[in-house]
Amino acid sequence: MPKGDNPWNKGTKIDRTKYPNFGHFQKHTEETKEKMRKSHKGRTGKTNSEEHNRKVSLAQKGKPRPRGELAPRWAGGKTKLSKRIRASIEWKLWRASVFERDNYTCQMCTKRGVRLEPHHIKKFADYPKLRFDIDNGITLCIECHQPTKCHEEEYEEIFYKHSPTISRMV
Ligand SMILES: [Zn+2]
Repeated sequence: MPKGDNPWNKGTKIDRTKYPNFGHFQKHTEETKEKMRKSHKGRTGKTNSEEHNRKVSLAQKGKPRPRGELAPRWAGGKTKLSKRIRASIEWKLWRASVFERDNYTCQMCTKRGVRLEPHHIKKFADYPKLRFDIDNGITLCIECHQPTKCHEEEYEEIFYKHSPTISRMV
């Protein structure tokens, strides 16, 4: 039987009290919606306003940037670095290896032949050493990948719990 025909999440019972969104990624709970509204406040428009940009740059000036847990989700200057990394050979190899291991199948909805993206189980930004660790990658389709963004920690547990290919590293 090909690997893709026996998805890890088939028949597994998800604790929906803990993961109300699992399998229903389009639907968000009221609480999540509220959180999202809050976190997206001020950047819901297509581009930030001049005024907003000016305020941000003023606020950033002269402040030491907090590291690790204290670092804000919005991290100026990181875009360049991550773009560079994503263009690198290591990135391409890592991505290809993750896809290959997962048989080019989304590990959440088990779709194939759709656009796939590699997801970092331990956050790309917080675990630089695991950026190119195959065990830290999981294949997701874009539809399943999207809701994990900014919720990496919550999904981490799900991936570890339900994927036999992933071993806990930290
Ligand atoms: Zn999917």
